[in-house]
Amino acid sequence: MSAYEKCPLSYRFQYIDGLEIKPSPYLSYGRSVHDALEWLYGRDVPEPPPLEELIAYLDSCWCSEGYADSEEEGSYLRHARDVLTQFYHKNIGDFRLPLAVEERFEMDMGDFILSGVIDRVDRHPDGSYEIIDYKTNRRLPELKRLREDLQLPIYQLACAEVWGITPSKLTFYYLVPNQRYSTKPRDRQGIDRIKERLAGVAESIAAGAFPATPNRLCPWCSFEDVCPQRIAADDLGENYRARHGALIRRREKLDRAISQLADEMREKGFPPDCEDH
Ligand code: SF4
Repeated sequence: MSAYEKCPLSYRFQYIDGLEIKPSPYLSYGRSVHDALEWLYGRDVPEPPPLEELIAYLDSCWCSEGYADSEEEGSYLRHARDVLTQFYHKNIGDFRLPLAVEERFEMDMGDFILSGVIDRVDRHPDGSYEIIDYKTNRRLPELKRLREDLQLPIYQLACAEVWGITPSKLTFYYLVPNQRYSTKPRDRQGIDRIKERLAGVAESIAAGAFPATPNRLCPWCSFEDVCPQRIAADDLGENYRARHGALIRRREKLDRAISQLADEMREKGFPPDCEDH
């Protein structure tokens, strides 16, 4: 939903057309740091591991995709170690096992299903809950954008509707500057406004409205080389044909996969409901 609001066309490329996200240093770095933090907080015992073990885990789960060369990768890895070290020193003093780590949710919103993953939900000693979402941006975005962002209110909704929990704090944790941005949960009217906004997005998606919305993140967009806003008019025809061809190939691949699965189901005595294949 947030992705649609940033650029509907990019949303369509990713979630409707199924185009692959280009590997990039930023994505690989973010994934590796997230994985290391998931490991740190996803423990079975309430004592934190030593910092060396966290750094060793980062090294073992490090994703090497998308870097120009080993020098660039090395500099990102060193940076990730530094960021995790700073995070560790600032947070390990009040380490406790969270209520949830990397928790997947699905909510039935009536006309659509809303799904996502929450990085962490803490339960504080006073019994209150805090939702935490890690960010690996280099700096904090403007406050206005943070206040309007849909992500944390969606997580608030998920906590209330899926687990019956009302968090008292919603936090974006910006790992690079090692800074938190926390807000209070939305009140009932605020939640109603969020629901209306979500319904509006769902309606636009159902209506097939995917306008390109150029923004400051375009240079890092995975679909920049197929985006009509970013390629020269002369190349547009060729670009559309390439995308069309890619979608047809994807459909053929899907048809083959469906057919193979249907054969397997018949063989095992579970014929598919639909016998097209
Ligand atoms: S390059 Fe910019 S306008 Fe084009 S799809 Fe990506 S975010 Fe949208």
